[in-house]
Amino acid sequence: MIKSWISALEFCFKLLSCVLLSCVFYSPRPPLMPETFYQQTTAAPATPFDVSLRPPAFSEFIGQEKVKERLLLMLAAAKHRGDVLDHVLLSGPPGLGKTTLANLLARAAGSQLHTTSGPQIEKAGDLAGILTNIQRGDVLFIDEIHRLHPAIEEYLYPAMEDFRLDIIIDSGPAARSIQINLPRFTLVGATTRSGMLTAPLRSRFGLINRLDYYSQDELALIIERSAGLLEVAIERSGALEVASRSRGTPRVANALLRWVRDFAQVRGAGFIDKPTADAALAMIEIDAQGLDEMDKRLLEVLIYKFGGGPVGLNSLAVAVGEDAATIEEVHEPFLIMQGFLQRTPRGRMAMPSAYGKIGAPPPPRQDDPQSNLF
Ligand code: ADP
Repeated sequence: MIKSWISALEFCFKLLSCVLLSCVFYSPRPPLMPETFYQQTTAAPATPFDVSLRPPAFSEFIGQEKVKERLLLMLAAAKHRGDVLDHVLLSGPPGLGKTTLANLLARAAGSQLHTTSGPQIEKAGDLAGILTNIQRGDVLFIDEIHRLHPAIEEYLYPAMEDFRLDIIIDSGPAARSIQINLPRFTLVGATTRSGMLTAPLRSRFGLINRLDYYSQDELALIIERSAGLLEVAIERSGALEVASRSRGTPRVANALLRWVRDFAQVRGAGFIDKPTADAALAMIEIDAQGLDEMDKRLLEVLIYKFGGGPVGLNSLAVAVGEDAATIEEVHEPFLIMQGFLQRTPRGRMAMPSAYGKIGAPPPPRQDDPQSNLF
């Protein structure tokens, strides 16, 4: 009897120690951290190549002198007052340095940069997630700000003006508004379509800057700086040759430089001079004025298919098989700047120089009485 009691006790003791041991050694797996919207949006959107060539200080940012001067003045004034920078809007075609300037502003202000873009902010909660993670003085960079949802824009107004977020939770009779106070922050908005920005949003920026295309000399300086970082020797004539085909855009200049460097290392003598740059760019069909295949296709379709226009953007986009927004934002500004294309209320029209460019016979003159006979 006693024996059976002892063995029962032993069994209970073993069981208890097993349970205790398993409690000590078993630590439940931490739940997998869901990738929050905030984490996703702050992931660097630019390529490592872009980032590696990004100027780390205003002193290395070439060109855009007026914009730079205004931003540096704003920074000095804010520092002097111990205040936070005012909100800044940067507009201009892609690749001119808007993201780079936002980085430089944050760095010069000694604050952290948080990056997101208009289409990434889908609901009020996304915006709240970003803004509640911000510290005083931080820079929030919203790329493509013209693509913000109108409802999100409404939430942004009090955040920009009074550093307050009014969030409505629930709907119908149970709807309540909660107010979250935010630290003072700087919003840097970037847009390629400043005309699409609503007036109320535009008016909330303290400083609005439009970036211009770069001159050939400025681009040559950017190319020489990038070549230094890529450790490839370049002659001034080579830099100017690449610059002349870069469409006034540093991002294009850097991309072309990368190609020319590869070409120089495989087919050339390892350094970039004018003939090497010429041969390298001819190989990828970029002509002396910087027009690529798509630019030429656009002009050809406009002239041969649509009689020189006017034709609507969407018809043109379908005819060349390209996205309308890409045509509008990437190709058209350059073709307009070069005097090949005109935007009119009735549609896109080819300019006389476009005919020469693609080797088409010149268009009949408007004042030629013969052209109105039939
Ligand atoms: P955006 O935001 O306007 O599209 P980015 O700021 O991403 O343009 O610039 C594209 C690339 O061009 C950057 O990686 C940077 O290396 C280069 N870049 C732009 N502006 C300048 C400049 N003024 N000086 C030197 N490099 C520049």
